[in-house]
Amino acid sequence: MAKQPFISIPLDIPDVQVLKTEITKAGELILTVESTLTSTICRRCGRTITEGHGHDEARLLRHLPILGRPVYLRIRPKRFRCPYCDGHPTTTQKLDWYDPAALHTNAYERQLIVLLINSTLTDVATKEDVTYDALLGVLDRWIGRTVDWERLPAFVTLGIDEIALTKGHRDFVAVLSARTSDGEVHLLAVLPDRRKATVVAFLAAMPAARQAQITTVCSDMWEGYVAAAQEVLPHATLVIDRFHVAQHYRDGVDSLRKQELRRLREELPEAQRDDLKHTLWPFRKRPEDLSTAEQGRLKRLLGHSPALRRAYTLREELTRIFDTARSKADGLRRIGFWRQRVARSGLTCFDAFLKLFDRWGDLIGNYFVHRQSSGFVEGLNTKLKVLKRRCYGLKHVGHLFQRLTLDLDGYRRFSPWRTAHAGAHGNS
Ligand SMILES: [Zn+2]
Repeated sequence: MAKQPFISIPLDIPDVQVLKTEITKAGELILTVESTLTSTICRRCGRTITEGHGHDEARLLRHLPILGRPVYLRIRPKRFRCPYCDGHPTTTQKLDWYDPAALHTNAYERQLIVLLINSTLTDVATKEDVTYDALLGVLDRWIGRTVDWERLPAFVTLGIDEIALTKGHRDFVAVLSARTSDGEVHLLAVLPDRRKATVVAFLAAMPAARQAQITTVCSDMWEGYVAAAQEVLPHATLVIDRFHVAQHYRDGVDSLRKQELRRLREELPEAQRDDLKHTLWPFRKRPEDLSTAEQGRLKRLLGHSPALRRAYTLREELTRIFDTARSKADGLRRIGFWRQRVARSGLTCFDAFLKLFDRWGDLIGNYFVHRQSSGFVEGLNTKLKVLKRRCYGLKHVGHLFQRLTLDLDGYRRFSPWRTAHAGAHGNS
């Protein structure tokens, strides 16, 4: 082999010395290391013990790669004998850079955790050549399956959202989140269903100080959520998220678009059928976000369907009310006028929404009082949608909690760029 330049870099693992370095035929780096610490804590009496008593079997721990090479640390853990306890039991030395149950060093597990953010177990298992089960073990060591109230920042808004795990509308899990005043979303729970009793049980078990801080509960229009919040958090204001409201009134208009496209594809002369293509996003986006080309496509589509034009206009009018109403009374009054225009239009695509409005109008109106930004509700719901697609078939709520926590909080908690080599190189 041609002569190569060599470098040396610090190992960044405390209290070990390297006895040997080898490169296997496969190009893997194996570093044999030994702990330089000369004591441990007796597993029976808890005292510090220093009397050496041989070694355990050698362990091979996967570590962070170096220059693209997989790295393993080989260590024979030291054993110590207790002079105080009856029978002088021996204890294996515990070191804080690996977990005795793990196949990897903590540093490498942290990297695996970062790789799992917004990804899947199968994908990371393939990329890193680790097993699926090993990754499940990593998740369990690094991320709890339920919320850790101690580490949660203060929050005043509780959000209740949901994911439908299977197609159709039966298999819902409820997703409870905390929103801090600076717009961070933290996961509180994934509940196995959306029954009132299930939500009540969780809310009632929340620390009393946390309950008392909650001023607002934002949810979708669902009896179970609203009734649960009213029972356990009677002091909080209930708001139906603008995001969920918009979903409902926009759904009806989207269905009408599909229906009209089907009709127009049959009725329009061949030459004009191209006018129907690439109209989904021009039709869905806010008018002010459209490019000139998109405006043209939208105009041609609406030109073919007066009903769709009326529905589009009414949809945008309702959005405008949510953007600009100055108070609850103003908002509800304007929605009242809007309803009259819907009735005069002869359209039925808002019927389902109006039925919901009859039931939930008061809580929808609370939006105009607090004007919570719906940005993070939307962000969370986008994550839920993506997670559902990625983790198809994932039904265990504990695992859903871990994966969602990781997606929401992973970069904040585990990003290597925030803590990389902190301490090891002082002020670098
Ligand atoms: Zn002892």
